Amino acid sequence: MPTAYERALERAVPAVIEETVRICEIPAPTFRERTRANYVRDRFESIGGWDHLAIDSVSNVIAIRRGVPGAARILLCAHLDTVFPDATTPVVRSRGKLTGRGVGDNSLGVAGMLGVAEAIQAHRPSGVGDIIFAANVGEEGRGDLRGARRLVKDYARDFDAMIAIEGHALNRIQTHAVASLRYEVSVETDGGHSWGAYGRPNAIALLARAIVALEPLMPDPKGTPKTTMNVGVIRGGRSVNTIAPDAVFELDMRSVEPAYVDRLLANVRAAMRVAVGSEADVKMKRIGARPGGTVSLDAPLIKTVLAARKGLGLPEPEFYAGSTDANAALGAGFPTTCIGVTTGAEAHTPREWINTAPIKQGVPYLGRAIVAAARMPRTDLRRGRRRA
Ligand SMILES: [Zn+2]
Repeated sequence: MPTAYERALERAVPAVIEETVRICEIPAPTFRERTRANYVRDRFESIGGWDHLAIDSVSNVIAIRRGVPGAARILLCAHLDTVFPDATTPVVRSRGKLTGRGVGDNSLGVAGMLGVAEAIQAHRPSGVGDIIFAANVGEEGRGDLRGARRLVKDYARDFDAMIAIEGHALNRIQTHAVASLRYEVSVETDGGHSWGAYGRPNAIALLARAIVALEPLMPDPKGTPKTTMNVGVIRGGRSVNTIAPDAVFELDMRSVEPAYVDRLLANVRAAMRVAVGSEADVKMKRIGARPGGTVSLDAPLIKTVLAARKGLGLPEPEFYAGSTDANAALGAGFPTTCIGVTTGAEAHTPREWINTAPIKQGVPYLGRAIVAAARMPRTDLRRGRRRA
């Protein structure tokens, strides 16, 4: 027999689909999420009944519902930002599908969270601890998780576990956070005329040596834990007849095991110094860092999420290592996962689409998982907690 709250989750589905379209049609590139944030804040306000509702200084929207003491306190995050530029593009509806930029990543995530918030406020399920609903900024690209990091820092004493929501991830449950480090590696020299000053050090030649020196450090593509290194961008020089005074490359390093990224970085630093030698200084500037971490399959949070799938006709989920807002809390040692609302494909392209039929299961799944987690005794839920 479904409870009144569970019936409300089922009834919320058409409204969640309409909300997804509205959110998607408000542009929200990373660092320019404010218009979408204001809209989401207004939606929380019309739902009403919050103990706290605000937009913080980085434009995260936060709505807090105080619950019963002793029950687990949950931080929910759905990111507002997209990888797309600041222009409105319409969502196209076709049979069983919505196509639009960021429609699943993450308009549906935000809309699903609002749908669950509305059902919780209307039916006030019993025995639930505090729930912090957050629509956050800065998940994509150079945003470097700044919104989720800020929430984890500001509310570190106010939550026991975090659940991140990503529209596409209905059948995937994140249990590992891929740790990543991004660096800009640069060399500068005096430069000069290629004929008149010939013999002076050339920054491009020195940087080329540095890149070649990375080769022996490249992790085995088949190795475990999976660890990767990539030179993604290179630039420098002035003209064909100028000794290059500067050259830069951008390096991305990732691993399922955070210690491997740190070790790789130490090796890269040493290799860069040796390769360039005394002819110039090599500068390494950090341009991004995402913490890594793991939640065990036996952790009460993961068991609760799995139990919430029961009876909804959902397939066995895949457990995965990802790079989402969940990384911010996993890296800080909190039991954390990332779950979703439907299936789709082509995220981060203008062709992105989602299936609408699975949202019928996705909203009840999300709503049940959140309430079940928030009903656990705090001490039980925190058992999955690790030291950062
Ligand atoms: Zn996303």
